Amino acid sequence: MGEVATVLDYTVQEPVSAFLTKKRQLLIDGKWVDAASKKTFPVYEPATGEVIAHVAEGEKKDIDLAVKAARKAFESGPWPNMTPSQRGRLIWKLADLLEENLEEFAQLETLDNGKPLTVSRAADLPLSIDLFRYMAGWATKISGETIPISVPYMPDAEFHVYTLREPVGVVGQIIPWNFPLLMAAWKLGPALATGCTIVLKPAEQTPLTALRLGELFEEAGFPPGVLNIVTGFGEGAGAPLAEHPDVDKVAFTGSTEVGKIITKAATGNLKKVSLELGGKSPAIVFSDADLAVAVPAVASAIFFNHGQCCCAGSRLYAHKSVFDKVVDGVSAEAQKIGLGPGMDPATGMGPLVSQEQMTKVIGYIDSGLSEGAKVVVGGGRKGNKGYFVEPTVLVDTTPQMQVVQEEIFGPVVCVEPFDDDGIDRIAAEANNTSFGLAASIFTSNLSVAHKMARRIQAGTVWINSHNVFDAALPFGGYKQSGWGREMGKEALDLYTQVKSVVATL
Ligand code: ADP
Repeated sequence: MGEVATVLDYTVQEPVSAFLTKKRQLLIDGKWVDAASKKTFPVYEPATGEVIAHVAEGEKKDIDLAVKAARKAFESGPWPNMTPSQRGRLIWKLADLLEENLEEFAQLETLDNGKPLTVSRAADLPLSIDLFRYMAGWATKISGETIPISVPYMPDAEFHVYTLREPVGVVGQIIPWNFPLLMAAWKLGPALATGCTIVLKPAEQTPLTALRLGELFEEAGFPPGVLNIVTGFGEGAGAPLAEHPDVDKVAFTGSTEVGKIITKAATGNLKKVSLELGGKSPAIVFSDADLAVAVPAVASAIFFNHGQCCCAGSRLYAHKSVFDKVVDGVSAEAQKIGLGPGMDPATGMGPLVSQEQMTKVIGYIDSGLSEGAKVVVGGGRKGNKGYFVEPTVLVDTTPQMQVVQEEIFGPVVCVEPFDDDGIDRIAAEANNTSFGLAASIFTSNLSVAHKMARRIQAGTVWINSHNVFDAALPFGGYKQSGWGREMGKEALDLYTQVKSVVATL
């Protein structure tokens, strides 16, 4: 284990530095254990590029043990015998503990991921807490139906027919690095509410808050094996989880490319698969939009979380009559953003999560420029320490360019004008992508807004806003942005299966 760099340049809570100093282990069957191989991997602070922690590197052997523990906890012991109300109370308790430790979690998230502490405090943590509370409420409301049947070939029979909605079983959950805790919460909440057991594989870039959450599971009183956490890399730990023959379902959030690999890996035992994948979401500003609302909203649509959002508004369309004002306005917003370490209170945008991500995003900007796009503001790396990329506005892009077609996952927006307000034409342009995660529409015409909402092929359409999330609101993708919906009552469908019971009376 190498040196752990000091993070005390900023005021970090004592529990945070204590957490970072100790080698973090895997959680299997209620016990913190080393990886079978004893291997560890370093975790970097994106603001400095320095190592801040060492974490166990789980692989196939560890996944096997974790799945075994999850299977045991699903089939025997206290968890399957708990009442829905008891399960709900445990989830609620988890939310309370998270709230009590909000500042510690927010600091850990910021050090690990790079996002501003103000954002971790105001968004990642409250949304995670709220999600657990929302799902705690569902634990007691998961029910089947009674169904009147009319079997044509049994006209004289009388039946009592009902459905049971049962937990799907052992679920593997593979988590990305952009909202490490929140993405784990989105998946854990419905799995717990429905009575499943879990093997969680956090992203290798950002494993820390998930591991700390594992400690809160113990404190809340969840039985051993209900949540198992195996940290490690995609191929080493994610792949064996996705293909494991004793996992009943895999839930994944990440790139469309890896989503396809996971789908193939799941075919061995035909486990259920849900996927929340990439996006290239359009934000569309009509000529009658209130620009005082639209400009800050479309700027935040792309720059929030440094553009590392699957629903980032990375294709911005502005009617030609407002195009210049929108470009100027978004560029001015970009220049106002204070780029710096997430722990600094003056920071509006932190570093990207990793060197790899920084290189990828800069590569996209360069590819846009080589194809004829122009930079209005930004356009490159800032400084030579940490993984900072300037908020960047590109114009003169065309629909075929890589920067317009592919997900950049960084603070880079392509702004294109459109000629008339014909909604079918602009809807076709907005839909000219293999993705379909989200979109936003800015107009003061109600009819245009709702007609556009129907025409856009995406799982979420925001009107006169972008990035509005709530635990009650289903989120997920059309087309290659995914399968299934997270949050809301729809999420419960992913973690349950329906059994029809037919009693002939
Ligand atoms: P990114 O490319 O932005 O890092 P990924 O989609 O690769 O995003 O990663 C999201 C999650 O998927 C991470 O937890 C990562 O370890 C995991 N992962 C990556 N490759 C695989 C794979 N082949 N099988 C299963 N999980 C994987």
